[in-house]
Amino acid sequence: MVIIGAGGHGLATAYYLASNHGIKNIAVLEKGYLGGGNTGRNTQVIRSNYFWPQSSAFFDRSLQLYEGLSRELNFNVMLSQRGILTLAHSHHELEGIRRWANAIMINGIDSRVMTPAEVKELMPLINLDCRFPIHGGFIQQRGGTARHDAVAWSYARAASEYGVDIIQQCEVTGFKTQAGRVTGIKTTRGTIGADKTSIAVAGHTSVLAKMAGFRVPVTSMSLQAMVSEPVKPCLNTVVLSPVIHAYVSQSDRGELVIGGGADVYNSYAQRGGIPMLEEVISSVLELFPAFSRLRLMRQWAGTVDVTPDTTPIMGKTPMDNLYISGGWGHRWLQGHPRGWRNHGLHNCQ
Ligand SMILES: Cc1cc2nc3c(=O)[nH]c(=O)nc-3n(C[C@H](O)[C@H](O)[C@H](O)COP(=O)(O)OP(=O)(O)OC[C@H]3O[C@@H](n4cnc5c(N)ncnc54)[C@H](O)[C@@H]3O)c2cc1C
Repeated sequence: MVIIGAGGHGLATAYYLASNHGIKNIAVLEKGYLGGGNTGRNTQVIRSNYFWPQSSAFFDRSLQLYEGLSRELNFNVMLSQRGILTLAHSHHELEGIRRWANAIMINGIDSRVMTPAEVKELMPLINLDCRFPIHGGFIQQRGGTARHDAVAWSYARAASEYGVDIIQQCEVTGFKTQAGRVTGIKTTRGTIGADKTSIAVAGHTSVLAKMAGFRVPVTSMSLQAMVSEPVKPCLNTVVLSPVIHAYVSQSDRGELVIGGGADVYNSYAQRGGIPMLEEVISSVLELFPAFSRLRLMRQWAGTVDVTPDTTPIMGKTPMDNLYISGGWGHRWLQGHPRGWRNHGLHNCQ
């Protein structure tokens, strides 16, 4: 079996195929270096606070895997269940958030609505009277962060121990096909044959699908993130505001890790634009004016793959022996900053 893309999904697919299904003859092909795509560029947030039962069940299973991952893979993924707090900035939004939190609880997942006073107690630096005053929020305490490089490397090492070959600097450039099947994978290092092939290339899903002769409903956009210089512990949860379009947490090293929405145009570039960066930073400063003194240390972007209903695609393709895992760059805070302020529940998935 060949898996294209050595990100979290490609590597995890290889590991579980080997460990759970006994398939050992696997190669993972990566055009750059392992974990160099979105997996090593993300803001490390893990959660399962989803509105729809199907999404809740799926992502809570994922969170449960994270809860046992360090032990299973014998590699510290630095899981930190510091909680993820979603803020409400109006009575209507708070009402939406109550429904959201209740739905999550009905789905069997921890969730708790918080008053503004409780929010302030949890995060003393927050400015409750910001431009869109904070009316409360809800927290999923089991949410938090897991170190992204560690996740990639733990799966890579564990897969490798099962005999999986991870081939870096090997870009897939096309497919040989015959009678609706893939008969060979063309790469910059030669053509490889495989019984089955899986595409796990995030923002390049549509590019690979085109090589195989079909289309997928995936839009590629730049999603950026940034970190401040490190400071002493001052923020002990992940905090997210769907309305003012930003989220922030503090890394173990003390940096504030900041993210927001995707750039509002399609792109395959792994870099973000200044307007979105300014928008995200100004939103964070509305919430935490004290952070205005901090210097920004690094800024970067990945190419996210977004589907129309913002849920991933996993499974078969029009080619008999070609599979796909994509559309993971879901619309947590994506969309046009002005447009989606009107949609309190858009984020619930
Ligand atoms: C800035 C940012 C912040 C994010 N924050 C979060 C977050 O906090 N929490 C969260 O859950 N998710 C977050 N995400 C989304 C998350 O990172 C992705 O959903 C996840 O990493 C996707 O993993 P993947 O393995 O599918 O893709 P990737 O990690 O991107 O791996 C795909 C790999 O395929 C390779 N590839 C592409 N084309 C080819 C080719 N032709 N041949 C060979 N290899 C190829 C790429 O080089 C890449 O290494 C964020 C994303 C970004 C960009």
